[in-house]
Amino acid sequence: MTDDGERGLPGKGLINGLAVTLRTMTRKTTTQQYPDVEPELPPRSRGVIALLEENCTVCMLCARECPDWCIYIDSHKEEVVVPGAARARQRNVLDRFDIDYALCMYCGICVEVCPFDALHWTPEFEYAETDVLSLLHDKDRLGEWMRTVPPPPAHDVLGEPSKEEATAARKAAGPGAATAAKTARPAAVRREPRQESDK
Ligand code: SF4
Ligand code: SF4
Repeated sequence: MTDDGERGLPGKGLINGLAVTLRTMTRKTTTQQYPDVEPELPPRSRGVIALLEENCTVCMLCARECPDWCIYIDSHKEEVVVPGAARARQRNVLDRFDIDYALCMYCGICVEVCPFDALHWTPEFEYAETDVLSLLHDKDRLGEWMRTVPPPPAHDVLGEPSKEEATAARKAAGPGAATAAKTARPAAVRREPRQESDK
């Protein structure tokens, strides 16, 4: 095929371009009236990360995996005396958990890798500051965001029960019902979406 054949009819590109312009000009436009009108964001939008402090075991996974190194964690160890145990146990106590949103790129890796569900996305996005240093959110501020975490989607009713549900069903059904409990999903132990009081 010649060069002319590849280009097609003379002026075809111009006509195609004008057609796109015409289509765009006649399309209905929508202007978001924010901040007068709140935008309707998808419920799982990535606005800010909330911390559920009591779930954090200070395993440091999130801080290690963060590609921007913008999670800062400090902790100390505390002895816990367990009645009947041969010796006292040790547990980590969180002293500092900060996320610097001036550096964060909202990749969500920290939320994904946390093995204890201590980090959650919330769609809140109104935390702009006039001073960049104020974008460092400490654990109290990250904890406050928990109020705005949407409940998780409902479980698939046709899905297999989780290991925990199967165990609870077995216990509820009593001895001898182990086999039946593996296949049943009783409503009494079905996990409900997170309520405000659970946060
Ligand atoms: S979202 Fe990404 S960049 Fe931001 S704190 Fe988490 S891991 Fe780091
Ligand atoms: S990964 Fe989760 S549990 Fe581990 S330090 Fe981070 S927030 Fe805490």
